[in-house]
Amino acid sequence: MTSTISINDNHSLKLSPLEVPNRLLLGPGPSNAHPAVLQAMNTTPLGHLDPAFLALMDEIQSLLRYVWQTENPHTIAVSGTGTAAMEATLANTVEPGDVVLIGVAGYFGNRLVDMAGRYGADVRTITKPWGQVFSLDEISTALETHKPAILALVHAETSTGARQPLEEVGELCRKYGTLLLVDTVTSLGGVPIFLDEWGVDLAYSCSQKGLGCSPGASPFTMSARAMEKLQKRETKVANWYLDMLLLGKYWGVERTYHHTAPINLYYGLREALRLVAEEGLASCWQRHQKNVEYLWESLETIGLKMHVEKEFRLPTLTTVCIPEGVDGKAVAKQLLLDHNIEVGGGLGELAGKVWRVGLMGFNSRPESVDRLVAALKEVLG
Ligand code: PLP
Repeated sequence: MTSTISINDNHSLKLSPLEVPNRLLLGPGPSNAHPAVLQAMNTTPLGHLDPAFLALMDEIQSLLRYVWQTENPHTIAVSGTGTAAMEATLANTVEPGDVVLIGVAGYFGNRLVDMAGRYGADVRTITKPWGQVFSLDEISTALETHKPAILALVHAETSTGARQPLEEVGELCRKYGTLLLVDTVTSLGGVPIFLDEWGVDLAYSCSQKGLGCSPGASPFTMSARAMEKLQKRETKVANWYLDMLLLGKYWGVERTYHHTAPINLYYGLREALRLVAEEGLASCWQRHQKNVEYLWESLETIGLKMHVEKEFRLPTLTTVCIPEGVDGKAVAKQLLLDHNIEVGGGLGELAGKVWRVGLMGFNSRPESVDRLVAALKEVLG
């Protein structure tokens, strides 16, 4: 039968093959993927149940345990960005009415508050001005007051550039039967993390920052304690896609279909993790620290100041104070358009006050610092 309906060509663009500007991504993320990662992603896809692909998933799991320093069997990559892995931690462990205590000292603490509320949590917060961190005493007092089922903290607050110390927090949580949930999106691969040593029960991250991959395959891990809470739930996990009991059947021994994994992203993540292991975790952390100190010194030489106290500054993300009378947005635009360098602007309390400069993964190199500082010098005049 011949169709009588004619095709509407209004939206059919006649485009040339994709070309994008070659930017140096020194903002809050994504950062540039390592060339070897891009090459790995440019490999023929396998089927998501192919034994060769399942073996690659095993390698990802093992390497994730290495970079996080955990023995958690349930350590996987979530198909989605860091926010999906973030949502997975709460969706699986929060039951309606559970008290969830969240440390809010920036934008991503607030995102956790919003998300936990959507899963029916009785959300309580402790707050700090943006750029500061919680002391162990403050955390201890809050745990005593709220006795929460879950305490959520952001290890590396990307909106402020501050590193939340986590030593001894897990021990405190155990006194109250509290699960410790930690956002490591801007720390994994670039900032020392010892999940098991610190008693962290739930953690998530992303692929596009310290690991030097593209966004879309996001690390997730849960301890035996967190798994027990999931298994004892009275209600089903409200989010089908992120339900770890279902996902565990794909990542675990059963190997049953759950969703079609983004195959090439997993290739990229596997290569990114392989590169971290090849460099060695300690060297990788040291490289991030050394290069960020070079950044701070170089920025100071051109008269710029950092927003966060040195002790708590992140090696991966620096908030740089915009000098009086300078239009921060205009400077960032000029860096992008004239110098092909992306830096981020401030969010929330820090909007208009800081630039956010990331040195993460492949981009954590002295050449990135030199290029940025030379460009800034020129733009600021
Ligand atoms: N948490 C933190 C601390 C982040 O910096 C980000 C993103 O930058 C996220 C969560 C969300 O990750 P994504 O943008 O990959 O969804």
